[in-house]
Amino acid sequence: MARTIAARTISAKPSPTKALAVKTRQANMANTAPIGAGWRDLEPSLAEVGRKYPAFPPMVLLKTDVQRRGVAYTPEALAHVNPAKHMTTIRSNYYDSAGAQPVSLTLRDGTSLYLEGFLEDGHREPYVVDHDGRRAFLTDRGEALEEVEYWEKPAFYDKFTRSGKPMWQIVSARPQRYTIHPKQFCDFWKFKGQGCKFCAMDANFRKNRKEPLLSVDDVVETVAEALKEPGASQSLFFTGGSLLGGKDPFGRGQGDPLGAELELYLGLLKALGQFFGNGKFPSQLISTAFDERGLRRLWEETGLMSYTADLEVLDEKLFGWICPGKAKLIGYRGWKERLVAAADIFGRGNVNTGLVGGVELAKPKGFATEDEALEATLSEAASLIKHGVWVVSCVWRVLGGSVFFGQKTPSLDYYARLSLGLDGLRRAANIPADLDNYRRCGNHPDTDLARV
Ligand code: SF4
Repeated sequence: MARTIAARTISAKPSPTKALAVKTRQANMANTAPIGAGWRDLEPSLAEVGRKYPAFPPMVLLKTDVQRRGVAYTPEALAHVNPAKHMTTIRSNYYDSAGAQPVSLTLRDGTSLYLEGFLEDGHREPYVVDHDGRRAFLTDRGEALEEVEYWEKPAFYDKFTRSGKPMWQIVSARPQRYTIHPKQFCDFWKFKGQGCKFCAMDANFRKNRKEPLLSVDDVVETVAEALKEPGASQSLFFTGGSLLGGKDPFGRGQGDPLGAELELYLGLLKALGQFFGNGKFPSQLISTAFDERGLRRLWEETGLMSYTADLEVLDEKLFGWICPGKAKLIGYRGWKERLVAAADIFGRGNVNTGLVGGVELAKPKGFATEDEALEATLSEAASLIKHGVWVVSCVWRVLGGSVFFGQKTPSLDYYARLSLGLDGLRRAANIPADLDNYRRCGNHPDTDLARV
């Protein structure tokens, strides 16, 4: 049921004196921000977009804009980070950190911001997290917008595996789930120009000198500890870089080029099955698109319940430009066929494909206007949903180390329309968002709308 936007009230504002101090600090920070001048005049503001789409929940709109613009922290906000309590370490595909900042934030209605270290996009000022001595607030130009909480750290983060690895490097926690990245490098980067252009995995892998593969023993040991956390995670989530087997991974017809990746996940899922009576367990895998034979093996031999293979962008030409490795290995149409086969095997609602929302407007080959991009994306999404494959989008963050670093992401208005469009298509097809909703994932503005 549609909901109208409530008046923008903040139930827990800082005291007037402290608010003034916050405002002064923010103003000082804004004066030194090296961001494109006048950007606020060039695109609709959060308030304007909120007024334009009254059914769009204000917290989700704010989350979308924070993901788009990034965050910075005042010294006062950082002074209230307690490393014994708050999560300050993360190991993910695109970003590793063991710093002083919170990994991410939660809004007061439980909406996850999921920032994964995204600090700013270089074109717009980030939102600023400040602290009034009692609570942390998300602020913009000195105005306290919403109270936020720093993500809490699970107890297993401070433990080590028998092989001596910190467990936070093996399994990443977020409020909704545990994430395992068994392949910390993507083989597409071994071939010149084949990595996806928005992706920073190669840069992150090299910068942090990670091992390409996690050991199954380390993962099993860490998951055993993670499952002891009271009232925590809803599911186990697996993803990582593509793992190409064989001597000629791009030489089609010479065996299954994804055999090694398939075996990796089969082995891991089987090993973890021991915690769930070797039956099905709440789980999601995002992998390179396996063929029907591989998909059947995953369904029949493991406890995996849902499957995702990310197309990233819903346009064949742009897929070839932005994801050349994927396009060469499997192709846009082949990828779609594999997703449809997955939906037949895993069941309606249990298969989707992810988009890096906004990358379809990347320069110079992307769509020229937001209207064109939206129309093309939603029309392709509709054709996939007809076959039981639903589409989920995240906000494109222009990451350092990616080919697209320096590009400008679309307006907030675009993201609002994209989220409303994808949510509307999914609802019209009567497909539940459980696999990737705010309880299981928390990253996607469009599936946050499933709460309404
Ligand atoms: S498949 Fe593309 S997006 Fe995924 S890790 Fe490899 S290069 Fe990055």
